[in-house]
Amino acid sequence: MRLILLGPPGAGKGTQAKMLDEKFRRPQVSTGNILRKSIQNGTEIGNRAKIFMDAGKLVPDDVVIGLIKERIVEEDCRAGFILDGFPRTIVQAERLTETLDEMDLSIDAVVDIEVEGEELVGRLTGRSTCIDCGAMFHEMSRPPLKASVCDSCEGELCQREDDKEDTIKKRLEVYEQETAPLKEYYRKQGNLKTVQGSGSVEDIFSRVCAVVS
Ligand code: ADP
Ligand code: ZN
Repeated sequence: MRLILLGPPGAGKGTQAKMLDEKFRRPQVSTGNILRKSIQNGTEIGNRAKIFMDAGKLVPDDVVIGLIKERIVEEDCRAGFILDGFPRTIVQAERLTETLDEMDLSIDAVVDIEVEGEELVGRLTGRSTCIDCGAMFHEMSRPPLKASVCDSCEGELCQREDDKEDTIKKRLEVYEQETAPLKEYYRKQGNLKTVQGSGSVEDIFSRVCAVVS
């Protein structure tokens, strides 16, 4: 099973990818998470990426393509993977297609999670993520039992640097310009599945499962 999750920032790709990972035992491969880890570890890639990420811009294609190429040849990806946040530009999508072709592999489904622009801003403002396990919380819809502490692993919750109002607007603009055209790219390839991203996390998950299995 090789999946791509598409959709704007705040659509819930990360949440759904994590749930798919648990259900189907295929790793969630999130370029956003990989990049944030590189920043934490103070690597050269991390330091370079941080400038783009904090501004709500995309990290250069070469950087993320390099990271993905290294990641998907790892042992745990052999039976499949769930790409979350990659590809995000046409160039990235083309390079992914080429790379998979060379490995004699292909994508089974591209799931586009659709959510209205105004709702996205509300979702991104006020959300926090566990540093240790990646679990997500939200002030309004899913507050943690104890402030700033993860319900599942007691890790520390932190707000993302790029979840500030101005940066959120920039990320949504970048999505419209750079990433939304991927829907057409994958529609032409015949494997685009569109799923409504409103309702509870569980509702959305059933819709996602219905189109991938
Ligand atoms: P979201 O989808 O909520 O914006 P992500 O964690 O997927 O969150 O991405 C956060 C940031 O990481 C992006 O705004 C961008 O700067 C960078 N990033 C992640 N994936 C990519 C990618 N495939 N190409 C370029 N930049 C990326
Ligand atoms: Zn946690």
